[in-house]
Amino acid sequence: MLAAAALAACGGAQAQGITFAEDDLRHAARLRDLALHDGQAWALLQQLCTEVGARPAGSAADAKAVAWAQAALQRLGLQQVRAEPLPIRIWQRGPASALLLHGSAAAEPLVMTALGNSVAAPPEGIEAEIAWYPDLAALRADGHDAASSRASGRIVFIDQKTERTIDGRGYGAAVMARVRGAVEAARRGALALGIRSIGTDRQPVAHTGAMGYEIGVPRIPAFAVSVPDAERIAALHGAGTLLRLRLQLQAQSGVEAVTHNVIGEVPGTDLADEVVLISAHLDSWDLGQGAQDDGAGVAIVSAAAALLQRAGVRPRRTVRVVLFGNEENGFDGARAYGDRYGSVVHQLVSESDFGAGLVWQLRGRVQPAALPLVEAMAGVLAPLGVAWPAEGANLGSPGPDAALLMRRHRWPAVQLSQDGTNYFDVHHTANDTLDRIDPATLPQNVACWAVVAWLAAQAPLRFGPPSL
Ligand SMILES: [Zn+2]
Repeated sequence: MLAAAALAACGGAQAQGITFAEDDLRHAARLRDLALHDGQAWALLQQLCTEVGARPAGSAADAKAVAWAQAALQRLGLQQVRAEPLPIRIWQRGPASALLLHGSAAAEPLVMTALGNSVAAPPEGIEAEIAWYPDLAALRADGHDAASSRASGRIVFIDQKTERTIDGRGYGAAVMARVRGAVEAARRGALALGIRSIGTDRQPVAHTGAMGYEIGVPRIPAFAVSVPDAERIAALHGAGTLLRLRLQLQAQSGVEAVTHNVIGEVPGTDLADEVVLISAHLDSWDLGQGAQDDGAGVAIVSAAAALLQRAGVRPRRTVRVVLFGNEENGFDGARAYGDRYGSVVHQLVSESDFGAGLVWQLRGRVQPAALPLVEAMAGVLAPLGVAWPAEGANLGSPGPDAALLMRRHRWPAVQLSQDGTNYFDVHHTANDTLDRIDPATLPQNVACWAVVAWLAAQAPLRFGPPSL
């Protein structure tokens, strides 16, 4: 029944005269079925979370993760295992606290975290009245400089809410409050920026993540508070209470460090010079264990490549696992990879970086003539609940590092969309830990990546260049 579904889905491709060899489809179905009984991804994820844990790029834990990953890929039987060093400048968190002050009430400590790249506050801290905004758009609408905005001389607080969605759209709509909020606030004379955590939970945890500054605009400290604390601030503000905030925040920027891209391969045969790149990022934020972000992706793509290797049929093209360094705060790994391998033909770039939820959709980003082949892949995955979309089938976006490479080098890509409904409950928080992951969801992911990697390696034509 499974093989029939795969072959039936291939009809579209056959009609246009291009399809996979039947042997290749049969092996794809075999890989899929083997993966469903494979506990390798969970074993890898357990090791990474418990033996290493949080691993911000350039830290001692990151170096430990690099050593772990090399040993793991070697143990899994991959070839050409290597760690390629890249120099980076890193941001390091120091102690931070925020107290909410109103009237004669006792000061209320907020659950907060500095945002990545935030400058430090002066040693004596910052105390000022809060200028409250419901979202980033409201701040942008409030004047354009210190003379015209009520942000001036205050601590701006943006109560940007994150909507829960399956595909991360809610996060995409909210995240600019974190990324751009400090610039918009400082341009209007603010002393610091606070935001409601970019997250969908209602737990007493704060979500960190990267923010940025702009040349010519003062650099002010930036932090996020938990959703419950943001709601407390909103309620007091709504009641007309004058709110003040006392901020202490220490941090260091521009510290010289080294991280690595870790790479392992299943060598190809007649098309070995062409690369099918499946990837994840090895680094994480410094809170939690980086279990969903992106330990799960590391485990999934490594286990998928290991399965290809173990299944004993060598692919035509080389399947390359890349575990990127410093995705979270600068994409240094992706850039360094592109600099080094930009002239190599890439048949595919893709990345698993959306937690451990089940895959529900496959999309391509390939030259139109190759799209029927991606649709045929979806046919093999249909029994696992993976859909081929009626619209936008060739508008896939392959995960952050891979998307950077796709755009920069015009390399083709696929997107295996995972169910991210709960992903932003723990994203970039102390709750991103192993216990929040359901081991039962990993084998389906491994199956999808093994099938996609195998068939991309066997495809009768090049997938690129895509239209961007
Ligand atoms: Zn990530």
